[in-house]
This record gives sequence, structure tokens and C-alpha cells, in this order.
Amino acid sequence: MIKKAELFQAAGDRVVCTACARNCRLKNGQIGFCGVRKLINGQLYLLNYGTVEAIHMDPIEKKPFMHFNPGSKVLSMGTTGCSWMCLYCQNYDLSQRRNISGVEVQPEELVNIALRYGAEGLAFTYNEPLIYLEYVRDAGLEARKRGLFSVFVSNGYATEDGIGMMKTFLDAITVDIKGNANKEFLRKYAAVPDPGPIFETISELHKSGVHVEITDLVVPQVGNHLEDAKKLSKWIVDNLGPDVPLHFLRFHPDYKMDWLPPTPMADLERHYKAAKEQGLNFVYIGNVPGSKYESTYCPKCGTELIKRDGFEILEWNLDKNSRCPRCGYRMPIVGKFYGGSMEERFHPVTI
Ligand code: SF4
Repeated sequence: MIKKAELFQAAGDRVVCTACARNCRLKNGQIGFCGVRKLINGQLYLLNYGTVEAIHMDPIEKKPFMHFNPGSKVLSMGTTGCSWMCLYCQNYDLSQRRNISGVEVQPEELVNIALRYGAEGLAFTYNEPLIYLEYVRDAGLEARKRGLFSVFVSNGYATEDGIGMMKTFLDAITVDIKGNANKEFLRKYAAVPDPGPIFETISELHKSGVHVEITDLVVPQVGNHLEDAKKLSKWIVDNLGPDVPLHFLRFHPDYKMDWLPPTPMADLERHYKAAKEQGLNFVYIGNVPGSKYESTYCPKCGTELIKRDGFEILEWNLDKNSRCPRCGYRMPIVGKFYGGSMEERFHPVTI
């Protein structure tokens, strides 16, 4: 469905889209880089309002969120298009598609589906949610009204206008940084002119109380810069504090970069060690099911507080006040632990 966009500014005979930091300057008839916003007779339109291309029930750990409502279930959804052009994208079929496709699911219906399937929240994911932010905002507000939370998985490439809109409904965000935020890597392999706005977005949302987790995809050979990973970790400690989780993700060969191998475990472990040395309390290694780095350890005494295997929580060793049973350290968990095995969480639903 096509709907008037709200995030734009007039600029002479053009209109600047402010939904993301690419700030496309559009003339009449032009469509932005993402493929979903078009200027028609001087008015910017969102072409895929409520046009949903992917929808799925997921454990929140899959996004990933480790410290936000652990054990909860989210209804994940995505559309088509993206503000970046990552040559290794795992969801390139959605993100790099430039024709609008999908089925119509208006915000109220999206929340109905989530509740029907027993979800505790909505997750806007699979492709970049900032590019269709007006829809996400409407769905997020509807979700909040009806007792659900909303989370984003985003590249964080937002503007002041976009951040302002996100603050009105968003509960948590995972910001996907790639290649250790190395500028040259992002320019060459993701078509990102400048990573600066990502850090603005993270700081602003964190300041306003939105729960933040950060991922960093370590791409072997071309996006594997340990010094930049150290800088990123230090930036997090200095600007957000040591408790913000950082996940180093293993790369899997895909799309136009299927010639690369998966990230060697030794490289991921070096990143883990470097981030801990910079003072981060919670560092994870993702996309390596069964690794000990999926679990949460007490930063004070080293006790295994939350044991995970993939997206499953096998052991929850915190007391009811989220304290370490050995030393009393209080884990910074936002929300509550929902519990249950994967089978219990995702038992077949009768509709
Ligand atoms: S959301 Fe799309 S049209 Fe708007 S600035 Fe970003 S890429 Fe351009």
C-alpha cells in the first residue's frame, strides 16, 4: 500500500528524505536508494506501507538480544529494500530486491497475529526497518497499547528525525555494525559513505532509555580489523558504559561474497579477548552454536549465570532479583526472564 511519508524536508525543487542518513535528494518521479520511497508531485510517499514480505515467530535470542526479556518470543517481520548494499547480505533476496512485493498486513492486524501466536513482542528485522519507519512506528504504538514490546534489528544509519520517531515507540535495538566499523570496508563492501550516523543513533537511543545491543560481523580477510574492534569496544565503554553487550558474529559465505570462508574461530576469540580487555563486561560470539561464548558469565566472579545453546536458554542461574548466586552481582537484565525450553516456547499453536 502506498502512503504519504512523514520523514522528509523540502530543498528547492527537490525533497530530501530523512528516514535514513543516506538523505536521498529526490526529484519528481525519483525513487530513493532503498527502493521504497518515491517523490510524486512534490510529495514523498512510502510505497510499501504494510506490505510484508517475511513473517516468522522467533526466540528473541535470534535477533540477537541476550539482556532484554530473555526467553521471550517475538513476531519478526520484514519488507523489501535496504539503505545499504552489503555484498555479503544473508537476506539479500529481501534487502536487495527493488520491486515491492508481499501481502498487506496493517499495523493492527500485525499485532493481532502476534497475540494469536503468543508473542510477547514485535521484531522489525530481515531488511532495514528505518526505510519504512512510518509503518514501524504505527505498528509499534499499537503493540505498546496492547501490551507488547517492539524491537529493531537495524544498521543504525538514522537521522535526527528518524531517531525522534524511534523514541516514540521503540523498546530495544540491536545495531548491526559490520567489519569492525572500518570505514574503508563499509564504503567498499556495503556502500556506506560514512559510519558517523550509526554512532549518533546508538548514543541518542541509549541516552533516551532504549535498550541497546551491538553486533559486529567479522568478515574474514576484508572486514577483520582487530584494531578497529578495540576502538569500537572502547567507544562503547566510554560512551555507553561497560554493560552494553557486544556480539562478534561469524560470517557465512553468501550473496556476492561466497568466495570467502567462514570467519575462523581463532579470529573471533581474538576479538572477544580484545573487547574484554577494553573493559566490556558482556561480550558474545554469535553464529557459532554450542560455543561457550554464547553464555553469560558474571563479570565479578566468573560464574556461568545464563547457559545457552544456540537460541535456547539451558540454565538460568540468577536469583529472582537477577543477582549472581555466588557473589551477589546484579545482572543488568531489562524486562523479565520468560523461561521454558524451545519446545515449550514454540509448541504448535491452535488458531
Ligand atoms: S530511506 Fe531510502 S529514500 Fe530515504 S534516505 Fe534512506 S535510502 Fe534514501
